[in-house]
Amino acid sequence: MTLRAGSVTAPRRPTRSIQVGRAAVGGQSPVSVQSMTNTLTADLDRTLAQVRALAQAGCDIVRVSVPDTNSLEGFARLRENIGLPLVADIHFDYRLAVGALDAGADGVRINPGNIGSAKKVEEVVRAAADKGASIRIGVNAGSLERDILESHGHPTPVALVESCLRSVDLVERMGFNELKLSVKASGPMETVEAYRLLSEEVDYPLHIGVTEAGTVLGGSVRTSVALGILLSEGIGDTLRVSLSGDPVPEVRAGIEILQSLGMRGGPRVVACPTCARSEVDVAALAAEVEKRLEGISTPLKVAVMGCPVNGPGEARESDAGIAGGKGIAILFVEGHVKRKVGLDEAVDALMDEVRRLEQKWTRAQGVEK
Ligand code: SF4
Repeated sequence: MTLRAGSVTAPRRPTRSIQVGRAAVGGQSPVSVQSMTNTLTADLDRTLAQVRALAQAGCDIVRVSVPDTNSLEGFARLRENIGLPLVADIHFDYRLAVGALDAGADGVRINPGNIGSAKKVEEVVRAAADKGASIRIGVNAGSLERDILESHGHPTPVALVESCLRSVDLVERMGFNELKLSVKASGPMETVEAYRLLSEEVDYPLHIGVTEAGTVLGGSVRTSVALGILLSEGIGDTLRVSLSGDPVPEVRAGIEILQSLGMRGGPRVVACPTCARSEVDVAALAAEVEKRLEGISTPLKVAVMGCPVNGPGEARESDAGIAGGKGIAILFVEGHVKRKVGLDEAVDALMDEVRRLEQKWTRAQGVEK
């Protein structure tokens, strides 16, 4: 593997670029973050609220399940209300995929292996081509073709890739190339192996993730390990962190993974681990700061520290930060103590400074142009 000088990550593997609505995936485009709603798609109010929360958290592409005709109606109404790239997730029934594309889906996720005959797959492909939409061939361990499963014994990485390539071949023969691919295994190491194999075979953009990853902690760690390895090898064009429960943490985890690898800008909250010296509830303050930074894209390091002993030293390394004291917080900006503030106004004061730094950064960008 050839490493870039000064970087622990390999160059991005060249892939084609496709569009998912306004989001370009693959090629030189930044690695995008996806998530998926878990409300009933037929329940417009709740689904709309969840999609908006995902957008607010920085999600680039949202996938929505369309398991039946009620959901299809819900999807169509959602489309009318949301400009964010929307992908319809379809299993088994090609008519739902065609319906979602008619309703304005920017893409559909199908597994041709469970859609049925080539004729049915062709209906979906034709509808996508007519609408200028893209298709994700999403293979996972739970939906492998029977013959492939039998020949490999269980859903091995090779079996996942074999299934994916079979579907790619089928769709390519229909003259369609607006594809992205995924081969998600439930274990992180199997996932790494599957994507490594697949990336040797194709130049389609890859949607990376670990399927059924788990709870917020376990799932985030497992996914971070797998995606960290893949992305550092230059593999992956769009990602999803699959977690049980509210999908918003999926987006935060995805953004954190990319920021950790230096692949995405935006603000980063650092917080001390706390110890016996801690004077404030660092975890609660950091969570509030993180929430209030949603939607900000300026690359800022924002610190929340627990005490005035080591806190100031750490906070000074940040663009803005607070260090807790007895009933007060010390506000730091660009390496200097700005002032002391009451604890209950600490986050507001910090956010005022963040907004000021944002404006300064935006002006500096304008000058550089
Ligand atoms: S900043 Fe203070 S409270 Fe936080 S870990 Fe360091 S010494 Fe402990």
